[in-house]
Amino acid sequence: MLMLYDSGSNIEMKRGYGSKYPISVNKAERSIDQIARSNKLEDAWLHYRDTLTDVGYNETAQNVEVYIDEKFKPHGGKTIILYHTHPKEKDIYPPSPPDIIFHDILSRTFPSNNVISRMLDGRGVWEYDVDEKLSKELHEITLFSPHNIEEYLREKIEKTYDSINSKPDTIPYTYKNRKEHIELMKAVGVKLTYRKMEFFQNPFK
Ligand SMILES: [Zn+2]
Repeated sequence: MLMLYDSGSNIEMKRGYGSKYPISVNKAERSIDQIARSNKLEDAWLHYRDTLTDVGYNETAQNVEVYIDEKFKPHGGKTIILYHTHPKEKDIYPPSPPDIIFHDILSRTFPSNNVISRMLDGRGVWEYDVDEKLSKELHEITLFSPHNIEEYLREKIEKTYDSINSKPDTIPYTYKNRKEHIELMKAVGVKLTYRKMEFFQNPFK
């Protein structure tokens, strides 16, 4: 169980699939940021209509499985935001190919919603999306060879790195230059933004 706080009021966040919290986007994001700063495991939540629902299970340091139960499914044309955390590391890493693929699948699952995916890494917030061309490619691969989809995106990203850097040994996920990485991802069709979160001091400490 994690105790969270926000603007003077304590919010008790129980870790567990299906837990619901009535909370605005801003407050939810601050609370998730607090979790990302200390949590050693990944976790995931869905924000929709001022409610945050825990949708992550089988949490590990490298992965979290997300399941959106029928009863959590949003109705209407409102924004839904999928949040997930990566444990804080020495360097800053962008969302992984599976994260990006999952966002694309989620967007297609809720075509009438505005689906936003954000990953918090204990320092800031990544927001990621794919352009129409990449979405189409990913969709075709999912249909014909679902097992190759992650490999496909990873290869595409690595090739882009190689063509620009001409350093075949440059592995995308050990990069140091965030700005350059964001530019390179754009060339592949992945839209990425990053903004830092200001550390929120616990008034109860
Ligand atoms: Zn992730």
